[in-house]
Amino acid sequence: MFPGESKMRIGFASDIHALKEGNKLMLGGVDVPHWQGEVAHSDGDVVYHALAESILGALALGDLGTHFPDSDPQYKGIDSAVLVQRVVEMMDEKGYKVNNVDISITLEQPKLKPFIQKMRENIANLLKVNVDAVSVKAGTNEKMDAIGMQLAVKAESIILLIEKE
Ligand SMILES: [Zn+2]
Repeated sequence: MFPGESKMRIGFASDIHALKEGNKLMLGGVDVPHWQGEVAHSDGDVVYHALAESILGALALGDLGTHFPDSDPQYKGIDSAVLVQRVVEMMDEKGYKVNNVDISITLEQPKLKPFIQKMRENIANLLKVNVDAVSVKAGTNEKMDAIGMQLAVKAESIILLIEKE
């Protein structure tokens, strides 16, 4: 808790990963079938990274890389859900819970519509909220820039935390 401050805190984060042929495409805990996936030290789940970092942002606790340095071998190939869980524990200790979160994914291919509901459920479970408190949207970059050229995937997360009773 932050004494004397607002009962609500907002956080935002953006994450981007390069894509490489043959790598897994992990998005919100879903292993999306595709010919390429994220280049990363962890499992590369760009959605979970943006989500976790937006919680850190709301609490003014710095960025994800400070808490989980990619130079640290214990995070090599780690399931990014574990990173989200640890950040949720920090939020818990600070006396906050999630009101709602809105996530946008920018990726040229494949179409993510069939996987969105599962991502929302995975995120709701990690955050201990109802699925209707979790929005996940996806769009392309209209063939422009690195994302449009299928060289990268980006996720952005904005989250509202409220003080626990
Ligand atoms: Zn990342």
